[in-house]
Amino acid sequence: LVSISGVDKYYGDFAALKQIDLHIPAGQVVILIGPSGSGKSTLCRTINRLETIQSGQISIDGKPLPAEGKGLAALRADVGMVFQSFNLFAHKTILENVTLGPIKVKGVKKAEAEAEARRLLDRVGVGAQADKLPAQLSGGQQQRVAIARALAMKPKVMLFDEPTSALDPEMVKEVLDVMVELAKGGMTMIVVTHEMGFARTAGDRVVFMSDGEIVEDTDPESFFTNPRSARAQDFLSKIL
Ligand code: ATP
Ligand code: MG
Repeated sequence: LVSISGVDKYYGDFAALKQIDLHIPAGQVVILIGPSGSGKSTLCRTINRLETIQSGQISIDGKPLPAEGKGLAALRADVGMVFQSFNLFAHKTILENVTLGPIKVKGVKKAEAEAEARRLLDRVGVGAQADKLPAQLSGGQQQRVAIARALAMKPKVMLFDEPTSALDPEMVKEVLDVMVELAKGGMTMIVVTHEMGFARTAGDRVVFMSDGEIVEDTDPESFFTNPRSARAQDFLSKIL
């Protein structure tokens, strides 16, 4: 479903991604892990062209990502993204936050968008908050709204870049639970996280990055119990 071949990304003459190859079948949950500065966020951002790449190809569902132009909005709609900071529109209600994209980008009728938004907000457990403003919600609730907002665009793949690292510990689980449900429902997901419990239970595959390269690409159990590279062993010794 997601096909990344030979991707290089430079910031000036600094290589942030070096010859990245990653092919993700539909329904797979990929845990992207690695030290700070290894290129995890950069890789996520290249997948929906928030960053340009210098060489290589990325395609979603067989469609190559255009560098720019009209096709880009449609392709971005195929890729839902959830960041560490929830990035909700502060002056819009929760319901408006979730309906804005479908109405503006996809031309969905307001009533239909609202019905779908309420269904999604219920699904992530914040249906009762629909008419509030983001600041009136807890961090965990806001992050679940951000997930509902991404899902409202009916993406083919969901990218999560450290979705729980800005949350108080007691709110982490409520967000991870939503992600586990999504994974069980067959969503294709790329998740940057250091939550090892989630990685082991929900992940189908672990991709370990270091210095802009993919160093290991294996199943979670092998990665956590028997990392092959010195770089992965060193990383795990620091976080476990
Ligand atoms: P973290 O775990 O800290 O989030 P990361 O693996 O997500 O790290 P990236 O944010 O992808 O790392 O950054 C990869 C490298 O690219 C880093 O060395 C970073 O300094 C560099 N970098 C990222 N964004 C830019 C930018 N806009 N301009 C220049 N360099 C950048
Ligand atoms: Mg990052």
